[in-house]
Amino acid sequence: MHKHHRALGLATTISTTVTGVDIAKHGPVQPVTLVRPHAASRAARFFIEKFPGRSMYAVKANPSPELLQILWDSGITHYDVASIAEVRLVARTLPEATLCFMHPVKAEEAIHEAYFTYGVRTFSLDSTEELDKIVRATRAAEDLTLCVRLRVSSEHSKLSLASKFGAAPGETKELLFRTRQVADALGICFHVGSQAMTPEAYSNAMERVRAAIVDAAVTVDVIDVGGGFPSSYPGMEPPPLEHYFETIHRAFESLPVSYSAELWAEPGRALCAEYSSILVRVEKRRGEELYINDGAYGALFDAAHIDWRFPVELLREPDSHAKLMPFSFYGPTCDDMDYMAGPFYLPADTKAGDYFEIGMLGAYGSAMRTAFNGFGSDETVIVGDEPMVSLYDEAPETVASNVVKL
Ligand SMILES: *Cc1c(COP(=O)(O)O)cnc(C)c1O
Repeated sequence: MHKHHRALGLATTISTTVTGVDIAKHGPVQPVTLVRPHAASRAARFFIEKFPGRSMYAVKANPSPELLQILWDSGITHYDVASIAEVRLVARTLPEATLCFMHPVKAEEAIHEAYFTYGVRTFSLDSTEELDKIVRATRAAEDLTLCVRLRVSSEHSKLSLASKFGAAPGETKELLFRTRQVADALGICFHVGSQAMTPEAYSNAMERVRAAIVDAAVTVDVIDVGGGFPSSYPGMEPPPLEHYFETIHRAFESLPVSYSAELWAEPGRALCAEYSSILVRVEKRRGEELYINDGAYGALFDAAHIDWRFPVELLREPDSHAKLMPFSFYGPTCDDMDYMAGPFYLPADTKAGDYFEIGMLGAYGSAMRTAFNGFGSDETVIVGDEPMVSLYDEAPETVASNVVKL
């Protein structure tokens, strides 16, 4: 990271008072990733203090080692991993972390390595074939926590996870029964889809869990409500996270297993969306279209392919007083699909050479970047200002005293 700071001509010790405007003054030619450790730390502490169970971080949302360390330092001890590369990465970065392999379709070699080399004991599955694989790959280990993934509706979520994974109602009885015979601890998990816009997504899924438990008549040791906790984006402002936690708590308490079972969650997006943003430059303006130096193959995959909208803010000094107007963006590659429809609202006098910040890219945005066509961000700078939007309000002085040193 320090190398990158020098590339910008900034001091290697980044003061926590550096802001996007300061970076823009250096005139960076490539997009610059701005990271806010204090925002990730605040999100983690919020989950740890308020979620009525264990919060484990879904690594795929943003696997940056710096972020993993911040979450660990903030109290997140469990990590939801989905590939052997994620297992190795988290084990290397956080040797004391507990890893849970929550992808329901795994290579047998990956299960073997995770179990024998990295001490992974928790696995998810949604079929008897996968159960057999786990038994073979761990040589019939007797210390497994096995979570049966149920298929649940994604109707309240912006991104569906309903068709690919999960046992259907007709399959769960047999699968729970057989898994119970093999597992030291039996769990039930689900995923309501990403960016769930209402807590009812979870209470509805918990009804599926209840039906499955009653039907199979098994004791269950873990109820894992998965990810899906929202962040805030233009046009997608969710209710407070506390409402989700209360709804989940109530639904959990009413399950027949609540007296003995643990409650888990796997937040990805909600823990890291506020962690990073990107500073881009306008290379050309054509009417309401801005040609910028990052795009669909950079941090803006979701903006291009699923019309996700992100907050934007012009970083010009002195401030523009022009009225806001809607823009769409073209990314830097030669591909027509490198287009983000938005609308993104910026001052009407925005022009080539201006810099602006695109916020809330810490989840999935940075994780899905490519270097296609030779474009992309290779500089990362730690900034101390607030993310454009936050679901985690806290007194400013508390925030400042918790700025994490990398
Ligand atoms: C992607 C994923 C998550 C995280 O989902 P978010 O919507 O980012 O919270 C959690 N669990 C599993 C199994 C996933 O695939």
